[in-house]
Amino acid sequence: MCGIIGYLGYREAYPILINGLKKLEYRGYDSSGIAIFCKNGYRLYKSKGKVNELKKKIFSPHKIKGTTGIGHTRWATHGIPDDVNAHPHVSNSNELILIHNGIIENYHAIKIILLKNGFTFKSKTDTEVLVNLIEYIQKKNKLSLEEAVRISLTEIVGAYSIAVVEKSHPERIVIAKLGSPLALGINEREFFIASDPIPFLDYTKNVLYLKDGEMAILSKNKELDLRKILDNHKLSPIIKELQINLKEIEKGEYKYFMLKEIYEQPRTILDTLRGRLSITDGFICINGIEFNKDIFVNAKCITIVACGTSWHASLIGEYLLEELTRIPVEVEYASEFRYRNPILEKEDIVIVISQSGETADTLAALNLAKKKGAFVFGICNVVGSSIARNVDAGAYTHAGPEIGVASTKAFTAQITVLVLLALKIGKERLSITESRYNSLCQELRSIPEKVNKTLKIDEDSIKEISKIYSNVNNFLYLGRGINFPVALEGALKLKEISYIHAEGYPAAEMKHGPIALIDENMPVVIIATKKGCYEKIIGNIQEIKARKGKIIAIVNEGDIQASMLADHVIKVPNISEELSPLVTVIPLQLLAYQIAFIRGENIDQPRNLAKSVTVE
Ligand code: GLU
Repeated sequence: MCGIIGYLGYREAYPILINGLKKLEYRGYDSSGIAIFCKNGYRLYKSKGKVNELKKKIFSPHKIKGTTGIGHTRWATHGIPDDVNAHPHVSNSNELILIHNGIIENYHAIKIILLKNGFTFKSKTDTEVLVNLIEYIQKKNKLSLEEAVRISLTEIVGAYSIAVVEKSHPERIVIAKLGSPLALGINEREFFIASDPIPFLDYTKNVLYLKDGEMAILSKNKELDLRKILDNHKLSPIIKELQINLKEIEKGEYKYFMLKEIYEQPRTILDTLRGRLSITDGFICINGIEFNKDIFVNAKCITIVACGTSWHASLIGEYLLEELTRIPVEVEYASEFRYRNPILEKEDIVIVISQSGETADTLAALNLAKKKGAFVFGICNVVGSSIARNVDAGAYTHAGPEIGVASTKAFTAQITVLVLLALKIGKERLSITESRYNSLCQELRSIPEKVNKTLKIDEDSIKEISKIYSNVNNFLYLGRGINFPVALEGALKLKEISYIHAEGYPAAEMKHGPIALIDENMPVVIIATKKGCYEKIIGNIQEIKARKGKIIAIVNEGDIQASMLADHVIKVPNISEELSPLVTVIPLQLLAYQIAFIRGENIDQPRNLAKSVTVE
């Protein structure tokens, strides 16, 4: 996830781009860059860090003249955040300059072909591969830029919104979109390109949102030329006049970032699967495992270390890894692990999980594990973060910047990586059958769609339930098996943003204490999916009902028994138990959000909490 921007017209491009990039910084802020074009060539500036760092590098901005330009603020997916990996990227002949938001899944295979054809690469990005692929195709077939872009994009698997400029034709920009957003602002004699319309609203409110599979050729003093990438078919542009409140727009239609991030999950899960789970043959490729296959195949035990929501993802990882790989797994709080003398052997694997990659306790646990000679594998969201830099191998979650303090999309992205990990290691160790592997891979591909469906069907019922219970003082969350950690996560979400006391418990443990709390004022959220000890859960529901507790049941579509007993029912799609946390957590996130919203809390910045816990 990143912000892209571009301008083509009669005004000086530099101030439009630099101010626009600042407005797009919420989309990514690890590095940024701009290229401004004039008749004699172009000027390129790139810098690690926020847009202000880029500004500091540009000593005489008033001297940067040019009425065509492109810019980018990055959220790295391939290659650490540094000056070289920052966009725009330039092709080998120095002729094509490109910015990109998204992930090119098959960049590695393309890179190998380009290397064989004499291309060289400065950066580690998938984007530099794309700009050189366009150059390769253009030169080989003597094509116009737009045709070279179009044909190259038909070779690409992944997601992108891009803008490309040819040095010798600065009067033209080619843009295209698949999966990542791209808005085009249109005025007489000028075009504005951006990931969302905020950067150009001062200039125009006439906007065309490119659809997936569309590209456009923007030329000075010419009409917009909109086309379909697949067959070059010409399209008639539908330009809308925007009526929006500037302050709200970066959250889109959402009141809080947390809600936006909840609704982003179908896409962030898909982004995390991109390039790792093959669409056609169920082949899973995670480089961090591929290069260290023996270590994983021969592992005697795995310890997962994390804090907070990542610790809950770790518990889900424990179920997945033990079930699918038959390797014993322990989950530890990083803060505890680091201060005892954990027993680790040389061959042991330690997995550390952190959204920010900067969590102080997790970082300390990582260092301790390394000191003891363990092989450390990291799962984090921020490319180039301290954890990412210090582990032996790892896999990023491609959730994009998470701004709401209460983690949502990072959690489901972490589970997605853990599922891929467990399936991959299980397959290598022959601890799962071919048919189970294939059917889980198949189901995994359907998860983004199922999460989307869950978000749609649950919204209204959750609003109703939230109204009823927004004034209670306590909540209980119950689940069994792989959904026990989901119960913990549901309780944590509610505590974090609504300040209602909530406990998560394994459903059967309720009898050993918490049942004493149950009366008619105690709402109990219980995850009662069909495949996870369903009969036992029904028993637990009966026990709550006998004590007049109020039951909010998360059930599968078509459920009868639990639904008849519960006071409120929230339905999620049917799915294998192993993958169910990816859908069962969605209503719990929404419930916490809606209750906090009704209570009028500051959802994105709850009291006493910080996004990245960089202190002990
Ligand atoms: N995949 C590209 C990179 O890592 C673009 C990432 C983005 O969308 O910010 O540079």
